[in-house]
Amino acid sequence: MAQHTKVLIVGSGPAGLTAAIYAARAQLSPIVIEGEPSSTTDQPGGQLMLTTDIENFPGFPDGIGGPELMGQLRAQAERFGADLRVTKVQQIDLSVRPFQAWLTEDDEPSIEADTVILATGARSLMLGVPGEERLLSHGLSTCATCDGFFFRGQDIAVVGGGDSALEEALFLTRFASSVTIVHRRDSLRASKIMQERALTHEKIRFAWNTQVTEVVGDDKVSGLRVKNTVTGDEQILDVTGVFVAIGHVPNTTLVRGQLELEDNGYIRTFTGSTTSVDGVFAAGDVQDHVYRQAITSAGSGCMAAIDAERWLESHGE
Ligand SMILES: Cc1cc2nc3c(=O)[nH]c(=O)nc-3n(C[C@H](O)[C@H](O)[C@H](O)COP(=O)(O)OP(=O)(O)OC[C@H]3O[C@@H](n4cnc5c(N)ncnc54)[C@H](O)[C@@H]3O)c2cc1C
Repeated sequence: MAQHTKVLIVGSGPAGLTAAIYAARAQLSPIVIEGEPSSTTDQPGGQLMLTTDIENFPGFPDGIGGPELMGQLRAQAERFGADLRVTKVQQIDLSVRPFQAWLTEDDEPSIEADTVILATGARSLMLGVPGEERLLSHGLSTCATCDGFFFRGQDIAVVGGGDSALEEALFLTRFASSVTIVHRRDSLRASKIMQERALTHEKIRFAWNTQVTEVVGDDKVSGLRVKNTVTGDEQILDVTGVFVAIGHVPNTTLVRGQLELEDNGYIRTFTGSTTSVDGVFAAGDVQDHVYRQAITSAGSGCMAAIDAERWLESHGE
């Protein structure tokens, strides 16, 4: 028989665990489904498990490691009685009350929940070239706001040609000596105004018709192997930092077709963390394509827990 809970939280990144802390302290005994350890995209602890130094999460003047921060959030949620489970939600039905969630392939649902907080995060699209996975967080990054500060005085590359690639490149000029934008085509997809700013910036160079074939380096990035798509010529760009800026995908497979999504696939939220289904709330990167930070995710996790608590109160649960 399905186990009943007042609050089911899906995801254990900063959004899910902050929601868990708040819901547990409100005596709601939330169940948190953390994700699967075998997976690189759905792992317990979320995206920060992939990074070494976090210097912009308030409260840590000397910085903190990603896994260490997530360990602390997890311990804090557990301390107040959150029921944390290292597994994945395979399927969820938001059309019935209580909502139903399956953790296995069984026909019977594993959990039924009065409210659901979706905090399944997002992932960066990656290049899929040798060296990339190994050097992530060792000179290779997917977030200029997070990591730009570490690249002061260095020559770096940004891979991509859309608005976000140019935004990252322009931001990185505050720190880097030079920024080379590596783009597969001979023109940019970005808006005219962003193009103009990037094309006229003294620190920004362009490698047109250029495809990345390898991120070079042993324990940190020492170069970027690229190939000209027109001539076939290969060379190594002499950079010590690489930012991959080719897009993000929210993890919404579970709820696609059951909730309203934005045109770009992110969960649409209305007042606070409310979604198009009453009693279902969304927090963190899965509903935020603008800020995508640990602290904003944690903040929205707090909002979702308070929204769920008030929803339960107003429904006499
Ligand atoms: C390399 C790297 C470095 C970063 N550095 C910084 C930084 O320095 N500062 C900063 O503020 N931000 C940083 N960020 C961004 C930050 O990590 C994210 O903004 C933040 O983690 C988003 O939190 P979240 O809880 O919304 O989602 P995520 O952290 O993405 O967590 C999503 C959670 O959902 C779970 N999940 C997904 N699907 C399922 C399912 N079906 N069932 C159960 N669980 C599921 C996953 O297992 C995971 O636990 C960095 C990101 C990366 C990739």
